Amino acid sequence: MDEAIAKKAVDFILKHSGRKCHVDFHGGEPLLNFKIVRYITEELSKRGNRYRKRFNFSIGTNGLICNKEIAGFLKKFDFGIVISLDGPEDIHDAMRKYTDGGPSHKDVITNLGHCFCQYLDARKIQLAAVLHPEHFDRFEEIYRYLLSLQKEMGFKKFSLARVTYRSDLFSKEDLDRYKEVLKKSARSFLRECISKGRFVDTLPHFPDYIKQIRRFRPLKEILPCPGGIIQLVILADGGLIHCRQVESLSNWKDLIFGNIDNAEGVNEKGRQLLHEKNSVSPQQCLTCWARHFCLPSCPALNYYATKDFALPDIINCEILKTRLEYSIWLLDEMNSRRIKLTRSNWA
Ligand code: SF4
Repeated sequence: MDEAIAKKAVDFILKHSGRKCHVDFHGGEPLLNFKIVRYITEELSKRGNRYRKRFNFSIGTNGLICNKEIAGFLKKFDFGIVISLDGPEDIHDAMRKYTDGGPSHKDVITNLGHCFCQYLDARKIQLAAVLHPEHFDRFEEIYRYLLSLQKEMGFKKFSLARVTYRSDLFSKEDLDRYKEVLKKSARSFLRECISKGRFVDTLPHFPDYIKQIRRFRPLKEILPCPGGIIQLVILADGGLIHCRQVESLSNWKDLIFGNIDNAEGVNEKGRQLLHEKNSVSPQQCLTCWARHFCLPSCPALNYYATKDFALPDIINCEILKTRLEYSIWLLDEMNSRRIKLTRSNWA
């Protein structure tokens, strides 16, 4: 994004945002263009005061660029920071290399210790790992590695998400192996809760499901898909798309529904493009036992997997139901061990 687009993006955000607005910078690698990140942040903060609008900020980074100036800036504007780290050295380096093919793990760890954690509050930092099928069998090692880093450095939490694959690229064997991953993750989750004597909501896979089951409030009532309605992505050239998931589609350019120069009726266009197509529950959802605890299936992910915005991917459904089953098991285990799930434990 160049400065001219950034100026228009600031005007656009000020005009179309509500009283509170969250701005997330993601890439590529946003810190490669730190000048623009700083410009947008400073302008929104300064002019937001005039419009009585409050902005908060987050950034997703590969953790390879950090110095005192950047850290001071992130601290000043109270950024939430998500750093990609896929696990131990060989696992991370297999997927995340420099453009010349060189490994990057050592540099991320160095920056975590000598920059991010030295100048920033570690509780503002989350680690985000992506799990690929070739590493499913090493799940426990990855989980322990991230957990020990979280404890050692005081990070807020870590996530461990499966890489998104179309059903036809994710075999039945991959699915069975991923279910085994979830089983191990559930056991690790329970072990942590037992050792701490409380519900630990900073671990991956289950906390949100457990909270929803406990509250007994169907997710659909609480979390409608926000893409194009209360959430927009401004692309580097000023184009508008619904959410980041859309960028994973091969035809995502066909889904650009506006531009910051011509944004009248933006919400309406967003609603039409994804939400009308996704407004009717498919037949398979009407008879599914998990339907009250299932997020409205993401239209972009549906399209990615099935080429139909409204048709959920069978693999994603299987994974969701497995997570729900383990969440119910965990809730029962915690109840029987008198591990309390009071709101104060959800910090
Ligand atoms: S798990 Fe799949 S089939 Fe069941 S409600 Fe969710 S999207 Fe529909």
